[in-house]
Amino acid sequence: MDLKRIFPPGAVLFREGTIGDTAYIVERGFLDVTVVRLGEVIRVATLGPGEIVGEMALIDDRPRSATVTATSETEVMVIRREQIQNRLRNADVITGALLRLTLNRFRTLQRTMAGHDQTTDNENDPLSHKAFGLDDPYERARERLILEQELREALESRQFFVQFQPVVALADHSLRGFEALIRWRHPERGLISPGRFVALAEEAGLIHAIDGWMARSALDGLYQIHESAMAAGNPKPWLSVNLSGTRFVDDTLVSTLRQVVQDSRIDPNFVTVEITEGVLIDSPTVAEPILRALKETGLTVALDDFGTGYSSLSYLQRFPIDVIKIDLTFIRRMMENETSLQIVRAIVGLAQALHIRVVAEGIETPDQAAMLLGLGCPMGQGYLFGHPLDLADAIAMASR
Ligand code: C2E
Ligand code: CA
Ligand code: CA
Repeated sequence: MDLKRIFPPGAVLFREGTIGDTAYIVERGFLDVTVVRLGEVIRVATLGPGEIVGEMALIDDRPRSATVTATSETEVMVIRREQIQNRLRNADVITGALLRLTLNRFRTLQRTMAGHDQTTDNENDPLSHKAFGLDDPYERARERLILEQELREALESRQFFVQFQPVVALADHSLRGFEALIRWRHPERGLISPGRFVALAEEAGLIHAIDGWMARSALDGLYQIHESAMAAGNPKPWLSVNLSGTRFVDDTLVSTLRQVVQDSRIDPNFVTVEITEGVLIDSPTVAEPILRALKETGLTVALDDFGTGYSSLSYLQRFPIDVIKIDLTFIRRMMENETSLQIVRAIVGLAQALHIRVVAEGIETPDQAAMLLGLGCPMGQGYLFGHPLDLADAIAMASR
């Protein structure tokens, strides 16, 4: 279909009640928009250059709500639904639902003004709320909005807590550090895993507050862990915290973290921040100075889930990375799959050559631990050495 079309005076672009899949932007000329109400033709608008008409057909395939006629020779730009559908499909669920809902409300209003019975709300009626309201995308959006609201409440009413997963030296299984992992104890739904809410918190713009709370609580915990380790004459373990990628567009990140570490009275050398490759890929020029500033503060920088993204070796040269954490998917496959084994071997070799420390994640069996040690990987984390622990158990572990 042509991008531009010219209609002579009197030509009808589309009629009320028909189904269409195009909208038009007026480039030149004028259009009359009319509806038939109680047998009478009513002109509801006259549109001129720059105005759009028929746009509802881009969103769904309900009947046109008006008739549009050219009143002079009119040139229009044609927009087809297929140009918009993909964008709509890829749109944020909530934005999409809101758009459909607004459209639906508008149609109901039109219907009401046209004198139809407003009380029928059956599903076969294309103009009913239900035809839209209970479809899948809407339900998903509703659930997200509820969860988002509950996330806000969770922060205020202290439903989050921290668990500490041990990281050990593979040679003798002695404790070296902990990774702080966030947990959400929902009053009705029970424990909700970070896999379910971290991405949502990012979308909702709540992750800054959550990560900030998390860093403070985790370092508070580390302070107590250190006291217990020292009392037992053990070396002090370090702690790593996860930083969401979206924090890297926040220019208060460095000063906030610096403050949190200072308030905790912990030597920054004992604190690692874990980031994922996404940060380095999406905004390398922003990430680089931030990582350098974090290092100047004395913090250690670890690259999490290494090997899963677009792992580029050039990152390791460009960015000040101290530690890489080999993603658990490689460790899981390593015993049966030769390729995974070779990848792990290559990562360990690379890390050694670049003087980067390496931690293997998700170690569950003694075989995996032995294999990694044989490959020269010095540190590991996983259920074999310890599940994520509550603070009291982490304190006890540090004093053993
Ligand atoms: P991650 O940083 O890769 O964390 C490691 C995940 O592996 C944790 O899941 C941990 O419980 C799990 N894990 C540890 N050992 C094993 C093992 O031996 N086998 C298996 N199958 N899994 C193991 P978790 O706690 O559910 O966390 C999931 C993700 O959520 C984390 O992945 C991290 O990306 C994110 N996350 C957790 N806490 C925070 C936080 O405070 N802030 C941010 N921004 N993200 C967090
Ligand atoms: Ca991590
Ligand atoms: Ca990881």
